[in-house]
Amino acid sequence: MTIRNSVLDAIGNTPLIKLQRASEETGCTILGKAEWMNPGQSVKDRAAKFLVLDAMREGRIERGGTIVDGTAGNTGIGLTMVGNALGMETVIVIPDTQTEEKKQTLRMLGAQLVEVPAVPYKNPNNYVKVAGRIAEQLAGTKAGGAMFADQFDNPANRQAHVETTGPEIWTQTDGKVDGFICAVGTGGTLAGTALALRERKSDVQIGIVDPPGAALFSYFTDGELKAEGSSITEGIGQGRITGNLDGLEVDHAFRVEDQESLDVNFALLEEEGLNLGLSSGINVAGAIRLAKEMGPGHTIVTVLCDPGTRYASRLFNPEFLASKGLEVPAFLTRETQVDI
Ligand code: PMP
Repeated sequence: MTIRNSVLDAIGNTPLIKLQRASEETGCTILGKAEWMNPGQSVKDRAAKFLVLDAMREGRIERGGTIVDGTAGNTGIGLTMVGNALGMETVIVIPDTQTEEKKQTLRMLGAQLVEVPAVPYKNPNNYVKVAGRIAEQLAGTKAGGAMFADQFDNPANRQAHVETTGPEIWTQTDGKVDGFICAVGTGGTLAGTALALRERKSDVQIGIVDPPGAALFSYFTDGELKAEGSSITEGIGQGRITGNLDGLEVDHAFRVEDQESLDVNFALLEEEGLNLGLSSGINVAGAIRLAKEMGPGHTIVTVLCDPGTRYASRLFNPEFLASKGLEVPAFLTRETQVDI
């Protein structure tokens, strides 16, 4: 019998897919962990499950309770899916800069959506801080309790990757993984996977790839949290050392501009049939940079976080791309060429 008991048991065990062009271009084997194939369609399902199950174990929430968090969307989608399966309600605080597609998905799942202006973390009205206050207010009044999932600073997030993503990559490559790289939102994926892989192979090379507007590239190269520029990527681009990043050291750090990651996104779509979100593009661009730095013959793994459909109104919108000074790929404006 290979039956999963609930949607929770359908999270994880995603395939590892060889990325053909990236591998050919570098002489390495570049593999993408197909996280968009999770039931909530993103890498954040893993964190959502661990955050809620950990809170249940600690007695912070039970059936009938409310899950609250601040998220760019994907964690909220994961938390709402997990919450629905466990008889819990969900309040999701989201910055109003995120795509309508993610907000729609959250509404369809039944989350109570609180949209707030996008302001920096140090501002008390930052989405994460608003979520914390809502959870505190609800905690005393709700039967079943209310939990602040706190995905940025709650280590149960990275534990999901210590216990699942890392070991899966190890098993799927028969221990032949030489490098792992991805971009950072909370840092759970990077830090948790790095911990699990280093425990099994101490010299595995860990890399971080940062979009413009994030501060971790400068932190890991010259010790200073400094951000410059801006990016159309969503769900990544961190300005501080979150609880989930605490103690992480990396062997390689890269900053990749939007045009470089978008080129990768569209090449993966047109040549390999992989329709992926913006953070997957930068992750694969980062894996290519890491492969070039390490030299041919290595096996490098990165994360294919979520699907391109989650950003359709931006990623596949010629006007939006042009307004950001980004190239519009030919297929988006191609006329139909068949007579009917
Ligand atoms: N890609 C996307 C699309 C995301 O939504 C997120 C999480 N916000 C990440 C990457 C980063 O994952 P993590 O939080 O584990 O650093």
